[in-house]
Amino acid sequence: MLSATETADLVAMVTSFAQDVVAPRVAEYDAAEHLPKDLLEQMRDLGLFGGTVPEDLGGAGLDHVTYAAIIEAMSTVDHCLGVLMSMPSALVGSGLLAYGTPEQQKTWLAPLAAGEIFGAAGVTEPQSGSNVAAMETTYRRDGEGFVINGAKTWITNIDIASFVITFATSDRSLGRKGVSAFVIPIDTPGLTTAPFKNKLGFRPLCSGEVSLNEVRLGPEALLGTEGDGYRIAMGAVERGRLSVASRAVGLAQGCLDDCVRYAQERVIGGTAIADHQMTQAKLAQMAVEIHAARLLVRDCARAMDGGSRARTEASMAKMYAADVAQRVATEAVQIHGAYGVSPEFRVGRAYRDAKVFQLVEGTNEIHRLLIARSLLHPRR
Ligand SMILES: Cc1cc2nc3c(=O)[nH]c(=O)nc-3n(C[C@H](O)[C@H](O)[C@H](O)COP(=O)(O)OP(=O)(O)OC[C@H]3O[C@@H](n4cnc5c(N)ncnc54)[C@H](O)[C@@H]3O)c2cc1C
Repeated sequence: MLSATETADLVAMVTSFAQDVVAPRVAEYDAAEHLPKDLLEQMRDLGLFGGTVPEDLGGAGLDHVTYAAIIEAMSTVDHCLGVLMSMPSALVGSGLLAYGTPEQQKTWLAPLAAGEIFGAAGVTEPQSGSNVAAMETTYRRDGEGFVINGAKTWITNIDIASFVITFATSDRSLGRKGVSAFVIPIDTPGLTTAPFKNKLGFRPLCSGEVSLNEVRLGPEALLGTEGDGYRIAMGAVERGRLSVASRAVGLAQGCLDDCVRYAQERVIGGTAIADHQMTQAKLAQMAVEIHAARLLVRDCARAMDGGSRARTEASMAKMYAADVAQRVATEAVQIHGAYGVSPEFRVGRAYRDAKVFQLVEGTNEIHRLLIARSLLHPRR
């Protein structure tokens, strides 16, 4: 656990990198729908992919509170880079950490945490988005190995990933108990990708389809034991939700910062719009909601630092922070008037991205269901 001063120093370092190096370039690479390689290399050199992965496995060994805080800091400028910062600790790496063999950790997790390679996590399928256990991708045993057939969709990082962690069932009638997890090198014969272009938001990230057609794997591709897949997927998305929530808070904070500045600069008929009480009320509401979302993120991070599962904390933080980001970004465009839709200001991009936070890593409807379930049917 870092001291408060050490955490603050790391946040300051990420903030100045985000503002000095990333900010001048985001609009351009958002329009180009591509993350610049040299930016990722600079992040690698700063150790920004190490996250909560233990130091002896090549990571930074951060506590979750610090990890969430640096992702928030990056996301005040560009949350898409926050996605990449989180993947080794969350969606892609957490299964490798909890279930990987020493060989799998050495081959995939260590270079991932060092920023030498990137990975992708393929959970969502065309016909089973919110209901992961209903997946249609299947595997069968083939001697010591496995053969996988099926398709995943909306999978992020397919342009830069060296491997995909994905999930398949041996028997659909077994539901979640039939699901196993696999680590598949991206160049494995039978695996093909097809990126989606011109998305509403999250444009610099490359998301698309992963097709698996008679993909033959050796025994070393199995993550955990057969039947562990659903648990691995849920553990990974739980970690991922902390990151989504941190990124949503960062995006909202960036909008508020812009609004505070713009409202004082924009003078209409001799009056700065910041002098209107209605503008002040909007700023105050934004500030309170962002603060509340940040506290939920910290609460979730602390629960994870305590070593426990944090299912409900993660759902609360993700759901609330995503809703706050969407409300704040909408008001931010409103405060900027017509300039809010101009590429000259970044609140328009935040508005497009904020909507997507309500969809990814479990839609906000699913999180409401999960939170309600924890109330109505508490786990003992
Ligand atoms: C930019 C982007 C990046 C992504 N990256 C990844 C990735 O890297 N890996 C990955 O695996 N996935 C990824 N996803 C997919 C994402 O996780 C899914 O979109 C999400 O889980 C929802 O699934 P779906 O889109 O199929 O929606 P559906 O499940 O079809 O849901 C459609 C609507 O129905 C509602 N709904 C569904 N079931 C219920 C219910 N039981 N009760 C109430 N309402 C319900 C939903 O809330 C939603 O409003 C990404 C998506 C996007 C947009």
